[in-house]
Amino acid sequence: MNILVINCGSSSLKFQLINSDSETVLAKGLCERIGIDGSLTYQPAGGEKKQQDKAMPTHKEAISYVIDALTDVENGVVKSLDEIGAVGHRVVHGGEKFASSVVIDEEMIHEIEACNELAPLHNPANIIGINVCRELMPNTPMVAVFDTAFHQTMPKKAYMYGLPYEYYEKYKVRRYGFHGTSHSFVSKRMAEIIGKPYDQTKTIVCHLGNGASVCAIENGKSVDTSMGFTPLEGLVMGTRSGDIDPAIVEFIANKENLDITSVLNILNKKSGVFGLSGNLSSDFRDLENGAQNGNEKAATAQRVFSYRVAKCVGSYVAAMNGVDNIVFTAGIGENDGKIRELVCENLTYLGIALDAEANKKRGEEVRISTPDSKVNVYVVPTNEELAIARETVALL
Ligand code: AMP
Repeated sequence: MNILVINCGSSSLKFQLINSDSETVLAKGLCERIGIDGSLTYQPAGGEKKQQDKAMPTHKEAISYVIDALTDVENGVVKSLDEIGAVGHRVVHGGEKFASSVVIDEEMIHEIEACNELAPLHNPANIIGINVCRELMPNTPMVAVFDTAFHQTMPKKAYMYGLPYEYYEKYKVRRYGFHGTSHSFVSKRMAEIIGKPYDQTKTIVCHLGNGASVCAIENGKSVDTSMGFTPLEGLVMGTRSGDIDPAIVEFIANKENLDITSVLNILNKKSGVFGLSGNLSSDFRDLENGAQNGNEKAATAQRVFSYRVAKCVGSYVAAMNGVDNIVFTAGIGENDGKIRELVCENLTYLGIALDAEANKKRGEEVRISTPDSKVNVYVVPTNEELAIARETVALL
């Protein structure tokens, strides 16, 4: 079956058409600047990547162009919409309602809408994508796959904040966690690689991309993760601060004469390694170049980032009272050997020794710990689209 995977943002839309039998990507692309002007990037498997400006006042035009591209006589990969068996939608927040993926119907849309206030920047866009696809493909079954669902197994001691209990009862203020599709995909693959049952392993996944989070997966269940009520908590990220003393918000607001929303905007968009590096870049390739050329702030940003990851991994060893596997994934985790090395420098107490040659590899599945290490350390590339396609097939 061919599954169209849709990841809809407020002004962008990423898509992949995946054949679920062969697990191959038939075509992929991106719509950008929806509601502004609009452009479509489309690439069929083995073909050339093409970008075209297209007027996209709303997501409806964007998805129509995606369907046109996929069914185009020359560059398309299917003859008609009938060859698209189902659509899998990424939905950021499923609140406490969704502990797994669901088949989308009218009732489910209302339930997802009820989670909107928990992710006001993301969920409304996800719902627009769902509604437009339902309008344009009324006979095609659709599934929602939530970033938060995998972490619904966290115990209460891990998801409660030290806040008045009534905020949890009244407003559902608690830790939810994100990147669940990736943490689940990568930890399952890790169990396969070492040939152990998924429900008998203790794995820590470090999903280090522009957004970054660590997850402790004990016996196949997420028991703790570093992102919380929103994706701002936890690690230092590309542009997000991660954990800070909450008192800093008021302090900076007073000093800089800003309101809370403006300070939070800075914590989301101007902080992390971008802010630490003196606004050099949020991209770790630029930080490495900077550090190589003697830029102290870039080097500090790399060290703050890695130290925070190592501390988080250490705390999850405590959370699970042990660990069998540590896995690096996503843009930085898969490609940046220096960051992996800096993280692992603080983990030798676990009996971990890094294989320096293996750690030079980029973007491929590889064991980077030495054979006599007490804990396996691996790089396992993530594939959230494939995970969504698999979930979609499993549910239908
Ligand atoms: P993601 O959010 O998973 O797509 O990761 C994107 C981030 O990965 C970029 O902002 C870079 O910081 C990082 N990245 C991608 N490629 C490389 C590379 N070859 N070396 C180091 N970092 C990389």
